[in-house]
Amino acid sequence: MNCKKCGSPKTVILRKKDYYCNDCFMVSTNHKFRACIGKNKVLSPNENVLIGLSGGLGSTVLLDLVHHGVSLENTKKLRITPFFIHLFDDNCKGLAESIIVQCQKYNFNVYVVHLAVYMSSNCTLPEPNCIPDVEEKETIAFRDMLNSMPPSAATDFLLKIKRSLLVEYAKQLKCNAVFTAETTNTLAINFLSNLAVGRGSQLQNDIGFCDARDEYVKIIKPIKDISNEELKYYVDIRQLAPVYYSDIKKSSMQSVISAFVSDLQGNFQATISTVCKTADKIGEHNNNENIMHERCVICESDLQAKDMKLSALEATNLSRTVSFENTQLKQNLENNADFLNNFDDINFSMFPLIHKYLCYGCSRNYSEMSQSALPLHIQKKLNL
Ligand SMILES: [Zn+2]
Ligand SMILES: [Zn+2]
Repeated sequence: MNCKKCGSPKTVILRKKDYYCNDCFMVSTNHKFRACIGKNKVLSPNENVLIGLSGGLGSTVLLDLVHHGVSLENTKKLRITPFFIHLFDDNCKGLAESIIVQCQKYNFNVYVVHLAVYMSSNCTLPEPNCIPDVEEKETIAFRDMLNSMPPSAATDFLLKIKRSLLVEYAKQLKCNAVFTAETTNTLAINFLSNLAVGRGSQLQNDIGFCDARDEYVKIIKPIKDISNEELKYYVDIRQLAPVYYSDIKKSSMQSVISAFVSDLQGNFQATISTVCKTADKIGEHNNNENIMHERCVICESDLQAKDMKLSALEATNLSRTVSFENTQLKQNLENNADFLNNFDDINFSMFPLIHKYLCYGCSRNYSEMSQSALPLHIQKKLNL
């Protein structure tokens, strides 16, 4: 069997049935990246774009694709001015160092930012290409905050922290767009995790091509249509060196979902693509991003989502309320069909600050953490 495009001997086999030679495979992968950006029309020419690098498989390929795109001299040149950033944690200094090396190979500068800067609202830009020193007080406060939460909540919260830092630094660098390198695998895991933690109404932003929650900065996932199988071939052909690393905390719900998705994918090749296609369909229905509503202080999600019926919040709140022996409440439930519509007013809400400042997911995280651990700038916004 030969390459299905040009008839040369095959070197790449995708989905056990599609044969390519290296050249045709690289052309088709580049095309997928460019088509994803092109058809979604969110970038204007010569736009500043901040690119978040984690050092993993997707990040390594994205870096190479961007370099290839901006180096072209013909009409196909990728017309963006890229800036690079890596958000790092103390435990992974080695990873940060290898990302600096990765970027230097392309002559790109990269800003390395410690996650603990989330604790202060002072997000000044560090010198590029070096690992900054952070005050020990800050790193301890950051670690204490995450350790005060159960692993599933901490894993979910960490994603929100990274998102908010990316948006913050994009603004500092005058970038109206951010590229992140979620692969289809990551998105399938995030999709199921989102549903499980009650972030179903946020799927379009979290899993779809563009996260448009921030008024000024759009977060784009330009390689979401490239499968892990393709990314692995890409890395082999270009002889790149990704550093595999996962943010998911052990014994969290997300780690169970991740193992479940990967195991299933091993036996059923269509698992991840089916999950992602379902996510796309669900996302499309929720299309009111142009209307400005109140936003969650932590994740910027639309707080208008409270109008949706049969949400995870209502189910949890109802079962919690019913399990209280409260005769007044029972009477209300029996006498008044509209009672549930006014559910927010009831004092036994287990979810602090919900609808006013926080979405359901963030309120739930907040209720599970040591509350004094939150950064002061967030506490201030929450009027604590
Ligand atoms: Zn070919
Ligand atoms: Zn939120």
